[in-house]
Amino acid sequence: MARKPLVAITGASSGIGEATARAFSAAGHPVLLMARRLDRLQALNLPNSVCRQVDVRDREAIARAVRDAEAEHGPVDMMFANAGIARLADIGRQPPDEWDEMIDINTKGVMNTVHAVMTGMIEREHGTLVMMSSIAGRKVYPDHTVYCGTKFFVHAVSESLREYLSDYNVRVLVVSPGVIETEVLSAVNDPQTLASYKENKKKMGGGISADIVGELILDAYQLPQRALVQEICLTPTRQKF
Ligand code: NDP
Repeated sequence: MARKPLVAITGASSGIGEATARAFSAAGHPVLLMARRLDRLQALNLPNSVCRQVDVRDREAIARAVRDAEAEHGPVDMMFANAGIARLADIGRQPPDEWDEMIDINTKGVMNTVHAVMTGMIEREHGTLVMMSSIAGRKVYPDHTVYCGTKFFVHAVSESLREYLSDYNVRVLVVSPGVIETEVLSAVNDPQTLASYKENKKKMGGGISADIVGELILDAYQLPQRALVQEICLTPTRQKF
């Protein structure tokens, strides 16, 4: 059987990134797993995995991890720019440090991630970029001011990249989930914001499993290279907004 291509994922240490890593690994892909918590990446114990401690704010660290994994497993054919942080808060009270962090990780981090693989994909005229946005990249929500800003950024950049890369046969898929059961809320420091998010989540019967997101990304990736699912927008059925 032909060797399956290398798939790279940022933020693979928990939640959607971890679930996607498991899905692609189960489908036989070697995986490059990146996040700050190296122990969590290693604990996944996936076959043919390369685990690297990477902060997506460090452009050179991502490039180095990609070079190392490619030396072992050949070119990255899919990069999932998934790492992100949601420090949701009332914008009138939110400390500016929290904006800085979100902007650096969710926007510049995504660009750093794309940059590490884009030239190779263009040269090979093959590859898939999976861009983690959110339903909050399509419309705004209370207490999501800067988070929404970062995810609108991902949507805009993804559409521009999709147009640009279409000439090179490279696919760009945007993922826009609603409420998914992960560790994402651990970044919320504003107690009122957290309480109202949890209240709303309860009303919709909780979030849905990250495994569903991982499987959908795998399904979209497995289509022929000439077929592109441009966006996966997935929410709990009972999520109204
Ligand atoms: P988790 O908190 O479970 O996962 C976030 C991942 O991002 C972790 O693996 C974390 O790893 C990684 N990460 C955060 N900051 C950095 C950094 N500076 N460098 C490298 N890795 C980093 O939450 P989710 O799985 O939910 O989040 C994944 C993505 O999905 C995010 O972009 C989020 O905005 C988006 N999203 C989530 C939704 C949800 O309801 N859960 C809905 C819509 C979008 P580590 O801390 O080890 O570095």
